[in-house]
Amino acid sequence: MQLDGPDEDLVFPRHPRNPFESLNFHPNFSSLEANVVLAAKDAQVYFRLHSHTLKTTSGFFKTMYSLPHSQADIIYLDENADVLEHLFSMISGFPFPEIPSHEFLESLLFAAEKYDMPGPMSLIRMYLLTSSESSLKDSIRLYALACRYDWKQESKKLSTQTLSLDLYDEVHRSSIQTLSANALLDLFMLHRSRREEFRKCLDAPPFVSGAPSHCSQCATPISYAAWKELKYKMVMEMDRRPLGDLILDAGFCEWPEALACWRAACPNDACKRLLYDRSETIRVVRDCIEGLPNTI
Ligand SMILES: [Zn+2]
Repeated sequence: MQLDGPDEDLVFPRHPRNPFESLNFHPNFSSLEANVVLAAKDAQVYFRLHSHTLKTTSGFFKTMYSLPHSQADIIYLDENADVLEHLFSMISGFPFPEIPSHEFLESLLFAAEKYDMPGPMSLIRMYLLTSSESSLKDSIRLYALACRYDWKQESKKLSTQTLSLDLYDEVHRSSIQTLSANALLDLFMLHRSRREEFRKCLDAPPFVSGAPSHCSQCATPISYAAWKELKYKMVMEMDRRPLGDLILDAGFCEWPEALACWRAACPNDACKRLLYDRSETIRVVRDCIEGLPNTI
């Protein structure tokens, strides 16, 4: 590799004896051809990289190498070895290991931002959207991160992934606390708007109003009490799980309120017309749910 200017000061010494041979180098970053030595926090692990790689992938190192009289033999960094392994793998074109936790992801993003490394930032940005296949399952925290970095498309997609969650459940408290006020409001508005739009949809035709009526076949007075009960149950379910998928699935098959509806018939023994068309009800409720807003 051709070295120039201030790099000379950081060039790995070429004399026969290697002064760094006793150091614990990461196996993927131990090539003697690489001319820069970097130490992780507490100097437990060392990394050899080419200065060209650092300069071309990091605004921080580009600036550092542009300064005159950079004298360091070893560059000591504040990040632990695992974070640096991920970061250096990303800038070197190596596959990077699984990101094990949300805390780790945050440390990695912090370091990528600190060293002004757009490559790792964009890789992590894409990684956020594969969370369902990774160890990062907390969509509220992923959404919080996307909002913090103002990644709009990812924020929207991750807000959709929160729709299976009840934001009021105590188990999400620590995740909710990672949200900014704006991100939190947007998320609550999305969840609430789905419930309210759903309620409006159920109150409008073709659904029955719930007021006392008469059988269309025999004119006997009938009550739509069973439907009112089911409607209440559906709205409560939408509040608890705004995705609404369980209404169509287990809900309509198992809820006592649903079974009561499918059984409800005209009280006139000579008529016994069923009051609700089950398959048509499922179809229209599905249309309602599919039409609800699903991103912030
Ligand atoms: Zn009837």
